[in-house]
Amino acid sequence: MILLDRVTKTYSKKGAALERISLHVEPKEFVIIVGHSGAGKSTLLKLLTREEKPTSGKILVGGIDYERLKDRDIPYLRRKIGVVFQDFKLLPAKTVFENVAFALEIVGLSNREIKHTVPKVLDLVGLKGKEDSYPSELSGGERQRVAIARAVVRQPKILIADEPTGNLDPKHAWDVIRVLEKINHYGTTVLLTTHNQEIVNKLKRRVVTIDGGHIVSDKAGGSYK
Ligand code: ADP
Repeated sequence: MILLDRVTKTYSKKGAALERISLHVEPKEFVIIVGHSGAGKSTLLKLLTREEKPTSGKILVGGIDYERLKDRDIPYLRRKIGVVFQDFKLLPAKTVFENVAFALEIVGLSNREIKHTVPKVLDLVGLKGKEDSYPSELSGGERQRVAIARAVVRQPKILIADEPTGNLDPKHAWDVIRVLEKINHYGTTVLLTTHNQEIVNKLKRRVVTIDGGHIVSDKAGGSYK
């Protein structure tokens, strides 16, 4: 599903943010990426979403070779990859329903399809009954679940969750993690970055540790110290 082969990313002369990293993620895997601030985690995710291009090395996602990717193919790629961030990035003037529906409107789905699809996804993330609420009326955990609903409503193959629990208290953090597990269970590959040791240690998933632009460990059922 995801293949990085000796990928280097250098932003400036100061040195590489990532240096010759190789990583293979199978379809339907749940991978946690950990590392100190500045280790290179965001750079790795930005290479996958094509916000950044590698300085050298090969990247393949879902059979797409990034070297051959044209700018006009990027919207197609982004449909395969859903992303959620620490700060939710919801539209404050739109309701929960409208926030999720927006992701379908921009790809031209009909109102009928939207009305059919959005409630199912809100149900999946446990937000049935909150359709008409505005983001300001929700808890942080609920807002993040709206963001997840929006990220998965087009059924991406991969969901990237970049510190999704960073702004949440433990209970809400776990609500969000459980939703990610559910989405993974239904077949989406999940890449999660987090600094939360308890979450990493309890999830018992594959843990990839990045330090100084290198992958320093990659373990199934790994822990984070
Ligand atoms: P993390 O997400 O693990 O905190 P980053 O990928 O953001 O790490 O950063 C890795 C390194 O690359 C850091 O040294 C950071 O300063 C540098 N870096 C990240 N983004 C840029 C950028 N746009 N321009 C220059 N340097 C950057």
